[in-house]
Amino acid sequence: MKSITTDVLIVGGAGSGLSLAIFLNRLGISSWLVERHPTTSPAPKAHYYNQRTMEILREEGLAERIYALGTPAENMARVGWYTSLGGDDELDRKTIYLMDAFGGFSLAEAYERDSPCRSANYPQLRLEPLLLEHARTSSFASVNYHHELESFVQDEDGVTANILDRDTQTHYEVRAKYLIGADGGRKIGPALGIEMDGIPRLFDMVTVHFAAGLSQYLDDDSPMIRWFLSPDKGGSWGSGVMVALGPERYDRFSEEWLFHFAFQPDDPAQFDVESVVPRLRELLKLPELMPRIIRMNDWKVQGVLARRYREGRVFLVGDAAHRHPPTTGLGLNSAIQDTHNLAWKLAAVLKGQAAPGLLDSYEAERRPVGTRNVQWALLTFQNHLVIDAGIGLIPGAPVEVNREAFRLLFSDSPAGATRRQRLHEVIQSQRTEFQAHDIEIGFAYEGSPAIIADGTPAPVKSPMGDEHIPVTRPGHRLPHAWVTRSGGTISTLDLVGRGRFVLLTSSRSLVWQKAAKTVADVTVDVVAIGAGLDCEDPSGRWAAIRGTAPDGAILVRPDGHVGWRAEDSDHSSELEGAVRRILALAS
Ligand SMILES: Cc1cc2nc3c(=O)[nH]c(=O)nc-3n(C[C@H](O)[C@H](O)[C@H](O)COP(=O)(O)OP(=O)(O)OC[C@H]3O[C@@H](n4cnc5c(N)ncnc54)[C@H](O)[C@@H]3O)c2cc1C
Repeated sequence: MKSITTDVLIVGGAGSGLSLAIFLNRLGISSWLVERHPTTSPAPKAHYYNQRTMEILREEGLAERIYALGTPAENMARVGWYTSLGGDDELDRKTIYLMDAFGGFSLAEAYERDSPCRSANYPQLRLEPLLLEHARTSSFASVNYHHELESFVQDEDGVTANILDRDTQTHYEVRAKYLIGADGGRKIGPALGIEMDGIPRLFDMVTVHFAAGLSQYLDDDSPMIRWFLSPDKGGSWGSGVMVALGPERYDRFSEEWLFHFAFQPDDPAQFDVESVVPRLRELLKLPELMPRIIRMNDWKVQGVLARRYREGRVFLVGDAAHRHPPTTGLGLNSAIQDTHNLAWKLAAVLKGQAAPGLLDSYEAERRPVGTRNVQWALLTFQNHLVIDAGIGLIPGAPVEVNREAFRLLFSDSPAGATRRQRLHEVIQSQRTEFQAHDIEIGFAYEGSPAIIADGTPAPVKSPMGDEHIPVTRPGHRLPHAWVTRSGGTISTLDLVGRGRFVLLTSSRSLVWQKAAKTVADVTVDVVAIGAGLDCEDPSGRWAAIRGTAPDGAILVRPDGHVGWRAEDSDHSSELEGAVRRILALAS
């Protein structure tokens, strides 16, 4: 039997697996990726990538490609709620509400202040091929589609896996130091007996990917997501959600679309190509619509979290570790953020720069984020029912009662004005989903062994997850500020990452350079930001948010999170100890 040896065996060739192979490659670590399907997934699942994900993909040179191929910023600036696209009934073709979203319009200032990257919208079915192409150009990653992991065992030194090459129907063995379950929870977690806690089935969903010309029915290109709330069909989850899928245009002229239908697990309704076209026509009120159905897939809304993210030399990432409703778009985003967190730790351990104990921090850091994301996505999913209530819809009420609620909502009367104001106030609570700026970039790693806490309190969080307070407190993502270097403008985030530890100071003194030289096996690059230093801070933004005296320092880990900071240079002798603690090395 053929036998392969590699550092990291990755099982799953979707967002998690491909991104991990790419990140490991940059760090010079070999990986062998197996994906049981012959191609990337054709299902239109994720499409929204938040600013943190785009910052990470920017390091790989992928962000600009996604922006160029995906949705222009002006076509993802809002979310809209509508009654229908067609029809001549008094309640048809009404815009119920438009909400700024994803950094659009009123949100632009805060989103642009806090990140060098805007968020992006690009269907997962088009992103995965882009990631695959990138991974295939990597020198250290071997990407093998139509190869399936059938079984594995681990021992003290590594993992041995039995892989089926589905093209040739032959088996081979992979011996790796570590195994990563990026398999969406299908094989590795269950094989290890790792239980998933939470709600395994909340709703059943059907997603329809279809081609149709809808431009004549649309007159606003700003919404990225369109919700259809039909008075005849009940509320949000009884109706449907539509998103442009491109591939050339992501506005009203989009060639393809996706539509999500939801129904209760006990709903006897069947979805197949025959029944879906009448449903689309009925819901959109376009009886003449001739959609070409490209694909349909059914999936379930769940909110589950793996009890453990690690078992010995095996780690779970992405959907293998946490699966939640798509609301707030945290699935693939946190998958990529999981692998970004794990990659540098695996690399540091495999290169002998860190002790294996560093790997304990993966679960310590990412599982609390996973817990929060599951809860948050459930909250924002359920909150659509609050919007229904805000409209005045009563679950189970006769259709005429709900129609009357809509009539009043649109009526030119004091009662209508009151209902519109109520809806406005209620629907603002959905900023938890569409304006979740702090949820997206403000997560911090508290209580991790790879973070040296400095005893300062965490910033008070906005409970709705929308307002972000940039801080350099250990555990937080390094805040963004525009600085200049050699005449060009760059982000503070451009100074860090790519596998390096970086120490940021605003001091002229060489004290930090000296301290950084003594740090054992890792290189700590020192960058001074301020007038006449390595980088200038013309706007003063960095000075305003750096949170230390000018001669203090901020140690940024390879994943862009602050690992340690010193208020001033009196603490320079503590740098080596801090790096050693982060790397789980004996002091
Ligand atoms: C309708 C919908 C909308 C969504 N919208 C968003 C959004 O806007 N933003 C967002 O961030 N997330 C969104 N998500 C969630 C996102 O799609 C998932 O979180 C993401 O696909 C998880 O990626 P993954 O690589 O971890 O797992 P998966 O995509 O499930 O991939 C796992 C891979 O492992 C392979 N595999 C399994 N077992 C084996 C084996 N034994 N051997 C080899 N290969 C194996 C599978 O074939 C599969 O390709 C959405 C999801 C849905 C359903």
